[in-house]
Amino acid sequence: MNHPNGSYLNKRLLRLQVGFLLSAGPGACRTFPLDIPQRLQVDDDLFVESLAGELALTRAKDGVLLQGKLAISHLRECDRCLEPFEHRFELDIAELYALPSFVEKSIFRVDSNGEIDLAPLLREEALIEASYRAVCRDDCRGLSAETGDKLSVESDWAVASLAKAEAGAIDPRMAVLKQLLV
Ligand SMILES: [Zn+2]
Repeated sequence: MNHPNGSYLNKRLLRLQVGFLLSAGPGACRTFPLDIPQRLQVDDDLFVESLAGELALTRAKDGVLLQGKLAISHLRECDRCLEPFEHRFELDIAELYALPSFVEKSIFRVDSNGEIDLAPLLREEALIEASYRAVCRDDCRGLSAETGDKLSVESDWAVASLAKAEAGAIDPRMAVLKQLLV
């Protein structure tokens, strides 16, 4: 399958097999390093650009406890200039995936194949993250109130030299042009 912006990995990668922990019994623990440096589809409308960290899975009495820290990078819109940019954030995870016998239906459960799915968890966290303000860079100037164009340091320079020109302090390069026009 192709995506307009290139290929991406299937969210199947976000399913972890935990059957061995279930048979090992309460207290059993295993760490899972995760390093996905490529675009990955999390849901129909959600992609992450990279995912890295380490997860610890512990067999609890009523399920599997997932704990760890993930560094996630995804595309989102800058809250000042509205341009898309790659935003990186860290996620602390602590979630109990319940055994089927303990819950009727929950997105955080061990399925009948002994797997847990990280995709719904990532989706939930990405939505929370998207509700916070984020800017493409600290000195992003946002949009011009007059034109709606994106402001930049360069456009500041243009505005400043225009103001100077209007004040009579003409840029030497402009002065040459002015002489030609006279
Ligand atoms: Zn911006």
